Amino acid sequence: MTEKYDVIIVGAGAAGMMSAIEAGKRGRKVLLVDHAKKIGEKIRISGGGRCNFTNIHTNPNKFISNNPKFVISALKRYTQNDFISLIKKHNIKFHEKKLGQLFCDESAQQIIDMLLLECEIANVTLKKETIIANVNKRDEKYSVLVDSDEYLSESLIIATGGLSVPKIGASKFGYDIAQKFGLKVIKTLPALVPLTFNEKILAICKELTGLSLEAVVSFKKTFFEEGMLFTHRGLSGPSVLQISSYWKLGDNIKINLSPKLEVKKFLNDRKISNPKQDISIIVSEILPRRLAHIICNENNVSGNICELSNKILGGLSNSINDWSINPTGSEGYRTAEVTLGGVDTEEISSKTMMSKKHPGLYFIGEVVDVTGHLGGYNFQWAWSSGYVAGQYA
Ligand SMILES: Cc1cc2nc3c(=O)[nH]c(=O)nc-3n(C[C@H](O)[C@H](O)[C@H](O)COP(=O)(O)OP(=O)(O)OC[C@H]3O[C@@H](n4cnc5c(N)ncnc54)[C@H](O)[C@@H]3O)c2cc1C
Repeated sequence: MTEKYDVIIVGAGAAGMMSAIEAGKRGRKVLLVDHAKKIGEKIRISGGGRCNFTNIHTNPNKFISNNPKFVISALKRYTQNDFISLIKKHNIKFHEKKLGQLFCDESAQQIIDMLLLECEIANVTLKKETIIANVNKRDEKYSVLVDSDEYLSESLIIATGGLSVPKIGASKFGYDIAQKFGLKVIKTLPALVPLTFNEKILAICKELTGLSLEAVVSFKKTFFEEGMLFTHRGLSGPSVLQISSYWKLGDNIKINLSPKLEVKKFLNDRKISNPKQDISIIVSEILPRRLAHIICNENNVSGNICELSNKILGGLSNSINDWSINPTGSEGYRTAEVTLGGVDTEEISSKTMMSKKHPGLYFIGEVVDVTGHLGGYNFQWAWSSGYVAGQYA
């Protein structure tokens, strides 16, 4: 059996559904296929089940790509306010949690239901649990083979996402298709992911499991001031997830555990004002008690502050304000929120998302070498790139 469509979209995630809706609204005959049983699983599990669907501060410098300017056009064409208007049209209640991050009041499922309803209104044909055996180009048309059936279309949009969380449907399909059509793929890596450490640091993390605090975590000139969490596997929390997208294996990251205080000056002042006070009690004024004890132990400091030399206090201050540690790796795609790298933006038009080499072939969403910061930016990229492709496919 052969079925003809104007547009075939592979991957019914955030970007794929958005492009299907937009192409459908233009009167295009659209087929949206996904190999998963349930549609929009990443949306469902996102934002702790409430989906951080965009960020009111969206702008191009919140994205990482080999070509940082690539995102500008799509983000302008379909902005965070456009998505907010769609949410409002569907009466989905939302709130700002912090730092411009918008979440559903109730459930991420509302976003999935909204997108599915919009697909229905736009007459999109949706096929779930569909395993694609092959994709070819012939006579200027794209041929998608599923079992013994063939689907033909003028435009083919690849929206298969990244590699994170394989157990809910992630696959390397999009990268394979890009390579099959001769397009370059930038090396992929897990990002927005907890970092892991050698035995010594891991022992500290294990002892402090569950403890969180505000910290500045930096890699070279990039830094994030947000929560940090000790876990039984290493370090996590927003500031660590953010820096994981920048950190390079072999290099150190730096952590300021008390960003609001210059600890060296504080300790020197205290040495004068209260010389008989115990150092671990003083450090407990700056840091959570369990962490204060560990830091004092690691620095071999104990007793009254007046008994400690300025050099020792300097070392102690450094390990609070400027803790330098060497991650041995990350937790990998199992827990990563996103994938760094992907289809090289040099291969794609930033205006249309279409391949420069293959008219009619589009790449959108996370499969492209565009990675947002934590905070709703990855979904905004999915909406914006999906919208743009939907205008041209
Ligand atoms: C735990 C978690 C929480 C997150 N929370 C947030 C958040 O709150 N805010 C935010 O902005 N971002 C968040 N993200 C990131 C965000 O989910 C992704 O960046 C976004 O979903 C990417 O959209 P996409 O459409 O490109 O890909 P996806 O949403 O991953 O969709 C890809 C689709 O393609 C399908 N597919 C894959 N391979 C094939 C194949 N071979 N054949 C057919 N179909 C295929 C998949 O089943 C899937 O439905 C989170 C990610 C994770 C893992």
